[in-house]
Amino acid sequence: MSSSIINLIKFQSKITEGDSVTNTINRLWLDQVSDTIPIIIYIYDVIAESNIYINKAITNILGYLPENFKQIDLINLVHNEDLNLFKEQRKKWLNLDNEEILKLNYRAKDIQGNWHWLKSQDVVLSRTSQGKVQQILSTISDITEQKKLEIKLQKQIECERLITDISKQIHQSFDLSEILETTVTEVRNFLQIDRVIIYQLKSDWSGIVVVESVNLAWKSLKGMTLVDETFANNYIPLYKQGRIQAITDIYQENLSECHIHWLAQLQVRANLVIPIVDSDDLWGLLVAQNCNCPRKWNEDEIDFLQRLAIQVGIAIEQAELYQELKIANQQWQLLASTDGLTNIANRRFFDQYLSKEWKRSTREQVPLSLILCDVDYFKKYNDIYGHQGGDYCLQKVARELEGAIKRPADLVARYGGEEFVILLPNTNSMGAVQKAGEIRSRFRVLKLAHQGSDVADYVTMSFGVATMIPSQKTSPQILIEKADQALYDAKKKGRDRIVLAGE
Ligand code: GH3
Ligand code: MG
Ligand code: MG
Repeated sequence: MSSSIINLIKFQSKITEGDSVTNTINRLWLDQVSDTIPIIIYIYDVIAESNIYINKAITNILGYLPENFKQIDLINLVHNEDLNLFKEQRKKWLNLDNEEILKLNYRAKDIQGNWHWLKSQDVVLSRTSQGKVQQILSTISDITEQKKLEIKLQKQIECERLITDISKQIHQSFDLSEILETTVTEVRNFLQIDRVIIYQLKSDWSGIVVVESVNLAWKSLKGMTLVDETFANNYIPLYKQGRIQAITDIYQENLSECHIHWLAQLQVRANLVIPIVDSDDLWGLLVAQNCNCPRKWNEDEIDFLQRLAIQVGIAIEQAELYQELKIANQQWQLLASTDGLTNIANRRFFDQYLSKEWKRSTREQVPLSLILCDVDYFKKYNDIYGHQGGDYCLQKVARELEGAIKRPADLVARYGGEEFVILLPNTNSMGAVQKAGEIRSRFRVLKLAHQGSDVADYVTMSFGVATMIPSQKTSPQILIEKADQALYDAKKKGRDRIVLAGE
């Protein structure tokens, strides 16, 4: 439409030198057309730097009457950020070809101070006799609504991107604090506000600020425990129902004095609070704040934060589940590696531990010692004191063995039946024999009655000790076999004694 108007006006300007009756008719006709279209038609004299003509659309769009606009230079209404582009455009006018159309989008202020996005298309209307550009014809349409839609769409795309990114992160990571940190940073960037916090509620409805993104000019609330009576009494029930609170300006809403005071001391001017729900429970709040000045929270922004809070709720739920699973796993690991009767490590755990320590000792070329010990005449113990009595005895034995080892790397395990094993990393044969001797003395002190024993009237043990400096050529199995042989020898030699395996 605007290019046909341009042609029409160009044609009109060519015939203005014709006869006056035709001229008048044509001008009247042009005025009628130009004043009824919703596009500004603007003629500017480049040489005189003055406005020649503007139609009535200027009144609808920028609020000026055409006759008043004569004295105004459009450049004075242009937005600062678009001024350079606008000036460039004016320079280009001077070298414009006849068929060329210059296009520009810029913002201009209307008579009331509101900004409008304008789209102009400029062509040469007339030239001086030397061929210099004299008059420029601009057709200017108001594209504010279109721009608003564009910006809204852009924001929506940005929202979607952010939600997708954060959801992706949630599905890729179990690290809750990392997810929460990203959330507050991204939200603050996106909304261009002073502070975003996530507030975790405790059972008494006080809360702690667990993460925060804040403009350095404002107070940091991170780690603070916030207790607000009004909040707990009035808002919690609402938040539990998924309600949000959007305050544009704390001084303009009907807030109680103490609530205003409370928010003001946290340097909050505008506040948007979105509940974070974790499996139907109110876990905490996602709070967006402006400290500097009031801020209106529009529907799209609220919607965006609500959707984000749902994702955060999922992340929390997932992280909690993961945590529970981790604990359950640890407990299971513990169960799977512990002997049920004596509560010390079982054979399975011992085998793993031996293999690890074997490798380490091989690397470090340090001695690894093993004590295999077995309760003497235990069958008879069971016969006399019963199976339960036997179990109790094994528990006592385990406590004594445990009590005898001191170093964190040492390990006592139940090897099977009434047989126990003690692994002593970085210990030579002398040290291991000494340790076995210490245990033997403990039983002498304990004096756990054993009427069925042929060597003493209390429970005793026989010990087989073996020490090796591990190497690639040998294996942990050899160490066990050596200790087992030594134990066998100890039994054979009469029990209640220590035998050190030969090299
Ligand atoms: P030695 O001095 O040669 O070691 O003789 P011993 O009687 O101790 O050895 P033997 O291998 O003949 O008997 C071991 C007994 O230990 C047999 C078994 O019933 C008992 N025993 C093994 N595990 C347990 C247990 O968990 N609880 C109880 N009460 N007894 C057990
Ligand atoms: Mg035995
Ligand atoms: Mg045995």
